[in-house]
Amino acid sequence: MTQSDYYFKLYKQYPEFTLDVEFQIKPGEFFSLLGPSGCGKTTLLRLVAGLEENPSGSIRINGEELIFVPPAARQIGMVFQDYALFPHLSVVENIAYGLKARRFPGEEIGRKVQKMLELFELSSFKDRTVQQLSGGEKQRVALARSLITEPRILLLDEPFSALDYNLRARLRRELRDYQKRLGFTTIFVTHQQEEALMLSDRMGLMERGRLWQIGTPEELYQHPMNRFVAEFLGEANFIPVVPSGDNKAQLLIGEYRVPYPIPYPNGPMPQVMIRPEDIAVNGAAFPISFSARLVRMDYMGHMRRLEAEANGKRFIIYSHPSHCHQDIGDEVVLGISPERLQWIPDATD
Ligand code: ATP
Repeated sequence: MTQSDYYFKLYKQYPEFTLDVEFQIKPGEFFSLLGPSGCGKTTLLRLVAGLEENPSGSIRINGEELIFVPPAARQIGMVFQDYALFPHLSVVENIAYGLKARRFPGEEIGRKVQKMLELFELSSFKDRTVQQLSGGEKQRVALARSLITEPRILLLDEPFSALDYNLRARLRRELRDYQKRLGFTTIFVTHQQEEALMLSDRMGLMERGRLWQIGTPEELYQHPMNRFVAEFLGEANFIPVVPSGDNKAQLLIGEYRVPYPIPYPNGPMPQVMIRPEDIAVNGAAFPISFSARLVRMDYMGHMRRLEAEANGKRFIIYSHPSHCHQDIGDEVVLGISPERLQWIPDATD
């Protein structure tokens, strides 16, 4: 493994939990850690920030080893779930806080606070207390307060978890816009796949203290290394692949075999995955097609979510609401393009 500018190898053992991860991020990157509750995301961030006792492993930033450096000397910024702002202090006082604590000269603090107010479009609120701000404005104050100390890396721990859906969606876009414009290196922790897919340059998927796969959102969504990764990032259909007599592959759908026009690969228990949006409901003209019966339809606004059964095997399909005129109980022909089928290389899940 080559050493990049930000390298993390972190290990922590509790009686019933072991965190053991290794990853690198690039300067200016927005890197997300995604995983279910209890997988170790917060423990990992606390290790990076220096808040865990008896750390072990390595944190190297620009060649400097930080694992035993005390938190205050690490120059790492952190924005928590609830932003942890001081509610009775003004916007300016909140933003200035870190520099005051470090005893910067007043004139320099004033200059830097002014710059932050401009960057985060907070000038018109600067004398309000935090209590008098909207959720979006609070987020901007929290970012400004962390970034004013010029941290080498900004850690964000589920900053949107307490907010309603629309506000969360707006704040995510805002955060991403600021991050792109200002280029601060970020580790973002979330258990929401939509958030990680939308925000990240690259992301890592965690389970039970280990990192399964790291890559761009597209890589993880389209080419998951195992079933856990595939299913955590969205709904997925899995189809076993079996050999035919002439060593070609066949898809096993219930007890029926459907030709899959590629040579049968070597390896343990091959299976392919297909996302629900990649299956056509009126698919007779597709290279791979088979009949099925619609057993469930749910209207979701921007799409219809269908379930269809083919020889006892259930498929999930997303269809444009105006493209689906069938009803529950109708026979349909499901169609698949072979290039949309993704091999799942690792059968351990
Ligand atoms: P969530 O999304 O729910 O916040 P998480 O992914 O951030 O979860 P952690 O808070 O890092 O998970 O916890 C990881 C595991 O470590 C959990 O199983 C938790 O019970 C365990 N754990 C955390 N702190 C301690 C501790 N001080 N002593 C013992 N076990 C702990």
